[in-house]
Amino acid sequence: MFSGKKPPPDVEVDGVFATNELDLKNVSVYGFDYDYTLACYKESVDHLIYNLGRETLVRKLKYPSEILKLNYQPGFAVRGLHFDIGKGLLLKVDSFHQIQLGCVYRGLTPLSDEEVLNLYGQHYIPADYLESYAHNGSQQGSSKMAQLADLFSVPEMSLLCNATEYFVNNHIDYHPDILFRDVKSAVQSIHPVMHQIVQNKPEDYLEKDPQLEVFFNRLINAGKKLFLVTNSPFTFVNKGMQYLIGKHWRDIFDVVIVQARKPKFFTDKNRPFRIYDLNHQNHVWDKVRKLEKGQVYTEGTVRQLQDMTGWKGGSVLYFGDHPYTDLADASLMHGWRTGAIIKELTSEIQTLNTSQFKWHVNWLQVLQQLIEQYQESEGEHSRKLIREWIAERDQLRKDTKHVFNEQFGSLFRTYHNPTYFSRRLFRFADVYTSNVTNFLRFSPKHTFYARRGALPHEYRSWFV
Ligand SMILES: [Mg+2]
Repeated sequence: MFSGKKPPPDVEVDGVFATNELDLKNVSVYGFDYDYTLACYKESVDHLIYNLGRETLVRKLKYPSEILKLNYQPGFAVRGLHFDIGKGLLLKVDSFHQIQLGCVYRGLTPLSDEEVLNLYGQHYIPADYLESYAHNGSQQGSSKMAQLADLFSVPEMSLLCNATEYFVNNHIDYHPDILFRDVKSAVQSIHPVMHQIVQNKPEDYLEKDPQLEVFFNRLINAGKKLFLVTNSPFTFVNKGMQYLIGKHWRDIFDVVIVQARKPKFFTDKNRPFRIYDLNHQNHVWDKVRKLEKGQVYTEGTVRQLQDMTGWKGGSVLYFGDHPYTDLADASLMHGWRTGAIIKELTSEIQTLNTSQFKWHVNWLQVLQQLIEQYQESEGEHSRKLIREWIAERDQLRKDTKHVFNEQFGSLFRTYHNPTYFSRRLFRFADVYTSNVTNFLRFSPKHTFYARRGALPHEYRSWFV
């Protein structure tokens, strides 16, 4: 199959991948987001969010009751996709702002390439059309597109697609923009109920990882400081962490900040910290002059956190799952080192480790080189051969896409390029991995080196 050559070795599923060199000896403070960073949710959370949102859409916003029969479809959408609010389309965009044809859906139905080109006039989406949404997903100016940057938005997008499909199939006139906003507000409004359900039965919704406490203890024993900054409310985080670690979980962290309102936590200049009263589950009015272990704080800003603790710049490594809310400003504005927790890496790496996938990618590259080299060849026989190569290449492109996700392929690649999501991720994260506990494989003195890839004008390594 590989012409006598061995296939490339497997990629480690629990690997830590560097986009930028990171020497852990320089890191004295480790910070963590909570949801989807420390708290790994089961698929049951997606069903819960979807079902509660669907209920709100029908009962409160008076959408057709038939929508109650439409169930969550696991694996339909993936993170990183864009939703065109005005056109009501879910689509995948690459790092050059080009639409990946074959990855544009209205509801659950793919659009033909001709339809896409008719609607957009070209493959390319102008930057102001694509990016007028702020990092935090809040609407700014003439926003036209929203990106699914976090995992909580996947069930929301599934509800939106199911409702769209229902309207289209039943010839009901609808405005995509209004539907988008209604689904969004329905899903946002259910968060308190969702929090209550999850905290009442965390074992149904959270993956328990015994290695998590081992990881924290390793850091503490190495003399590192630890802090938590989450947008979620205390009671929700408390119940979750008690389940994951135990009642003593707050002893692990030197500073605990809840309801931080990231990304504002990173961008606001003067929003005070408030002390959360653990006895009365309320705020107290005292001015916060220092951050003490054992207390819980809300709101505040990263500037005050830095001023009160002296934790600055490259000495801080912050882990989060959301490339914009958690990592962008921390990295770009404050020089923190950043680690992205991308749960989907597990299944993506398992797929690319299969021998069939390796074979397909290898052969795809061989075909691509042949096509490039012989594209100008004259003569009917040569032209026919090149047409066959192109047809085979196109089939291989589809085969290497579908194995990740039938509709949208890999989170990280389109046919030609890294995805828009990848570009952002690689810009804002120094390292990325599927789970924080993967760091247990490395000592707190380890240095992660980014792979030196050849630039287009450079020679390749003799070994590659
Ligand atoms: Mg999170």
